[in-house]
Amino acid sequence: LGPTITFGEILVEIMATLPGHGFTEALDLRGPFPSGAPAIFISQCARLGGQAGIVGCVGDDDFGRLNTDRLRADGADVSAVAISPDLPTGTAFVRYRPDGGRDFVFNIAKSAAGQIAMTPEARALVARAGHLHVMGSAFAIPHLWAVLAKAIPAVKSRGGSVSLDPNLRKELMTPETSARLAQVVAQCDLLLPSGPELQLAAGLPDATEAEAVAALLQKVPEIVLKRGDQGATLFTREGRLDQAAFAVTEIDPTGAGDCFGAAYLTARRLGLAEPLRLAAAAGARNVTVLGPMEGAGTLQDLNQFIAARI
Ligand code: ATP
Repeated sequence: LGPTITFGEILVEIMATLPGHGFTEALDLRGPFPSGAPAIFISQCARLGGQAGIVGCVGDDDFGRLNTDRLRADGADVSAVAISPDLPTGTAFVRYRPDGGRDFVFNIAKSAAGQIAMTPEARALVARAGHLHVMGSAFAIPHLWAVLAKAIPAVKSRGGSVSLDPNLRKELMTPETSARLAQVVAQCDLLLPSGPELQLAAGLPDATEAEAVAALLQKVPEIVLKRGDQGATLFTREGRLDQAAFAVTEIDPTGAGDCFGAAYLTARRLGLAEPLRLAAAAGARNVTVLGPMEGAGTLQDLNQFIAARI
């Protein structure tokens, strides 16, 4: 089958224990927790029993070791996680607002993640991969796009598949990011948008959901639209399947989409039953636990989670 791989930032997240606004006062903090959307995704793939690996770069520091140790313990291949000699692992400080919004202080642009490159180890992982998951945030990061632009055709030309989580905001779109998005959509086998990313991926910003889905299905055979606490919908050329969200108390929303996508993809690749339901369970379970990927479950965890709710 070949592992599922992805490229991107490996960070730690440190969060305020109480809701409020910003970081302009001394706060009680929790963390560091391993984080970074690509790392969350790979953790969930590996915990579900899928072969999974990540191309990334961390600092020669405890934050980097925290992440790589965690991913390794999950069963992920971290052979292509380079260690930067001079830049630290990135950090994200998060504070939840009383209305559920989030305030962030990021230190990523000048972190080790900026040194991700097609190293010999990365090339070897790409050569083994059966599936490449692309995070759209990479479209706005030139060095990351440069390695992805090589990896996509390498995986595809050997019969591997590609998925895309557009992970893009309308305000951040430029002609360049739009062109890269269209290029990957045209080559992708599975699209995992949430909200208005559906229209962005279709290149039809003002289209209705139905119009955007119809246009995208001409290019992509399988689309799963994530709807937060409203659940998710699978669209194929044969029809649609709606999945309700599992009712949970949300503790920490970060990582739901990555756990959902990883569980859906891994279930599809391993031939597990009811991929959409398993994915909804993965997304819902992850929001019940503090820490971006602390709620990523094993197959047993997710089956128990589902059994307790039906
Ligand atoms: P992210 O914030 O990680 O970028 P996203 O926008 O990509 O998330 P969401 O739609 O928020 O993705 O979440 C993915 C899936 O996880 C949803 O489709 C849903 O099935 C599940 N989920 C997310 N939040 C909740 C919640 N509060 N309650 C129940 N299920 C949830």
